[in-house]
Amino acid sequence: MVEWDWCLCPCSWTLVETTHAMKYNRIILHCSATNKGQDISTETIRKWHTSPPRNWSDIGYHFVILNDGCGTVERGRPIWKQGAHTRGHNQTIGICYIGGLVNGEPEDTMTDLQECAFFELVDKLRDIFGPVTIHGHNEFSNKACPSFNVLEKWGSTFAQRE
Ligand SMILES: [Zn+2]
Repeated sequence: MVEWDWCLCPCSWTLVETTHAMKYNRIILHCSATNKGQDISTETIRKWHTSPPRNWSDIGYHFVILNDGCGTVERGRPIWKQGAHTRGHNQTIGICYIGGLVNGEPEDTMTDLQECAFFELVDKLRDIFGPVTIHGHNEFSNKACPSFNVLEKWGSTFAQRE
């Protein structure tokens, strides 16, 4: 089973090669704005994004990090297609972790497993696309998403920000 493989060995993800047209220099992190402890699937978010009022062609994020106690990463929109996740900044890679709320209020609910999966994914994306910087949605919009400050949480070295 593919999901079992991903769960045990995130490094075995086979992402598309750089022969695709999209070049990226930024990753923007999002949360699903769902309560801590709750897990929802990539398919659920895809339904939100492809139904009214959005009616998008596909889920807006390229990757989703589940809250399944296993750090599973699922693919969303294909990486070679432009995402739909940050108004005015969609020439970037969009990653969403499941969570971001406690009792309906914004709060960092990223689990250790989700964080670990995110780090692995960032490494893989940097192997493919080069030194991409890490940002939170809240740097580009007046929103709480991803419910924390990326630079404060991970520092400028990991984020590769000046
Ligand atoms: Zn967001």
